[in-house]
Amino acid sequence: MIEGNCHCGAVRLSLPEPPEDLASCNCSICRRLGGLWGYYRPDQVAIEDPDRRLVGYVQGDASLTTWHCGQCGCTSHWSAFDPAYERMGVNLRLFDPEVWEKLPQRLIDGASW
Ligand SMILES: [Zn+2]
Repeated sequence: MIEGNCHCGAVRLSLPEPPEDLASCNCSICRRLGGLWGYYRPDQVAIEDPDRRLVGYVQGDASLTTWHCGQCGCTSHWSAFDPAYERMGVNLRLFDPEVWEKLPQRLIDGASW
């Protein structure tokens, strides 16, 4: 298991293992957030937010929510609106760089979708 947290520590995430690779997306929201996404099934990701700091932001097409800590501002993950969608993205930048810095990064051309 690997664990990460936002800068202030209010939001903590646990993953069963590092992802095989990281996605860097150039869509309007991802390029601003600068997230490096690892994809997981929602039931694989444990999110602890005891002080309820997580704030959601919904993009214009309302298909997913990007979440950040309302205290320190770090983007933690995105989740799909559709509960049947078996994928979510976790921002590996919240984890120790040793976990992810050598993983291959895929450029996702979300700007063209
Ligand atoms: Zn925080």
